[in-house]
Amino acid sequence: MEEHKENIHGKDVNVKMSNGDEDDKLKPGSTICAKEVEDAPQASNSNFSHPVYKEIALANGHINRMSKEELRNKLSQLKLDTRGVKDVMKKRLKSHYKKQKLTQSAANEGQGDAYYDYICVVDFEATCEEDNPPDYPHEIIEFPMVLINTHTLEIVGTFQEYVKPELCPTLSDFCVKLTGITQEMVDAAKPFPVVLKRVVKWLEERELGTKYKYTFLTDGAWDMSKFLNIQCRVSQIRYPQFARKWINIRKSYGNFYKVPRTQTKLSTMLDKLGLEYEGRPHSGLDDSRNIARVALRMLQDGCQLRANEHMHAGQLLTIPSSAPLEGSPAPRWPGNRK
Ligand code: AMP
Ligand code: MG
Repeated sequence: MEEHKENIHGKDVNVKMSNGDEDDKLKPGSTICAKEVEDAPQASNSNFSHPVYKEIALANGHINRMSKEELRNKLSQLKLDTRGVKDVMKKRLKSHYKKQKLTQSAANEGQGDAYYDYICVVDFEATCEEDNPPDYPHEIIEFPMVLINTHTLEIVGTFQEYVKPELCPTLSDFCVKLTGITQEMVDAAKPFPVVLKRVVKWLEERELGTKYKYTFLTDGAWDMSKFLNIQCRVSQIRYPQFARKWINIRKSYGNFYKVPRTQTKLSTMLDKLGLEYEGRPHSGLDDSRNIARVALRMLQDGCQLRANEHMHAGQLLTIPSSAPLEGSPAPRWPGNRK
């Protein structure tokens, strides 16, 4: 199913540095243990208020829980020396992340280019047929969001609404089977404009684009460039300004881990990171959660995920990596098309 996407284009989890072990989770709001703080560098102003120190302490905590084998694998992935006893390997890995995070943080502050506070993962499900033609008028039937706090590296919120399709209100058997979304679920749902208003409210309540810098993240370009774009035309509303730029995680993953695009399907990314898909594939919310797990692991590995695609005049364009890191604008109802 993911080939299809590839070709055309409060539940909380926490990041893990090693494998998908549930035990490895830090609960949100859990305190960082003394050892982890001790391992973090001293702030020049002798306090730990800067978010980078919390990030370093969290990374140290994860490293402390890694087995020797996991440490060796991680060091090897990072092309660092893999020799030595467990404590030596731990120290080496901690130093690597500490240096990387402090350098990144200093660079960002130097440029007035602070990193996103939040990344909002979106993975739409849409009406479809088996072998639908390229001009198939997909309508969004599920609008999920999973919000990542980039400082604590936790999922801090989820949103999910099903959407009633208006052009073709009857789902194909293929679509029901693929997505697990039933006719009853969409019949009971609100049409897209109503759901979009709830989305705007949800983002506003979290002060995204006002108090906090944020951007969206998707698995491939289609969620925005195809599904949202078509849906806005069908619903006769303008394409929302706040969804014009996003991170295409497939591109980021390929560039960061230096793998070709053929190895950036969601299942492959999870597999290569030692994670298993959790939930039901093609459920928008479960897909979003799993995409978020990949994003969290990449952030943990030191990748600075940045918006790399945008929509301009109905066209999908690439954002060069040299562009300044801008957050998405505050969410707003886009208005009707004239
Ligand atoms: P996904 O995020 O991979 O679940 O896909 C998003 C949407 O793309 C689905 O809700 C379908 O509308 C469409 N889609 C995905 N895979 C297929 C497929 N094999 N055939 C037709 N449409 C598909
Ligand atoms: Mg999906």
